[in-house]
Amino acid sequence: MLLSIDTNSKTVKGQKQGYMTGILYLAPFTLSGINLCPMAEKAKCHKACLNTAGRGAFNSIQRARLKKTQYFNNERELFMLELVRDINALIRKAKREDFIPIVRLNGTSDIRYENIKFNHNGKLSTIFEAFPDIQFYDYTKISNRRNIPDNYDLTYSYSGIAGYQKYVQIAINAGMRIATVFRNRSDIPETFLNMRVVDGDNSDLRHLDAHGVVVALYAKGKARNDMSGFVVG
Ligand code: SF4
Repeated sequence: MLLSIDTNSKTVKGQKQGYMTGILYLAPFTLSGINLCPMAEKAKCHKACLNTAGRGAFNSIQRARLKKTQYFNNERELFMLELVRDINALIRKAKREDFIPIVRLNGTSDIRYENIKFNHNGKLSTIFEAFPDIQFYDYTKISNRRNIPDNYDLTYSYSGIAGYQKYVQIAINAGMRIATVFRNRSDIPETFLNMRVVDGDNSDLRHLDAHGVVVALYAKGKARNDMSGFVVG
């Protein structure tokens, strides 16, 4: 299976709101030999990446992510068709268990899926066109992703690095909500970047949040000790 279904404590919280979440976790940044996170060096998030949080701490999980990433890099068309099969399986499972299926493609990567077309039922389609009734969502550090279909919700991912601030401003100007990783709950202010702060740890259902707010997340995995400036506090 390419998709992991509710294996993350935060997406499990989404079940209380009626959602079942499938997440695709790949090997981030340059771990596979090809950079899947084009802004990671500028944001300095690669060392504190969530890739090492939760189940990602296990070597077996890291090996599986690397294998999936090599599949994505080397056999793109087959990979996308397998993703279609997995999303269909998620839809069936969610229906059986009375949940709304939702999909996050960049669990630990930052790929412009809106630009990836593959042959689906004899037609060149993106994954969003293949599933027009499914809500997709992601966090991204790419501030100029504008060609986004209606069923794909993006939250911009903040970093405190000085050289990254011009990209943050582009995202703010575009009205995106901004996810920010704070080191401790006690570091979380009521406003940040002149925007209202909302709790992002109660679920991963970002598409339900308003635009133009800061979504507060808490450092996990290696991020707890990050001193690069990516984590705030
Ligand atoms: S935090 Fe996001 S952009 Fe940064 S390395 Fe990890 S997956 Fe890539």
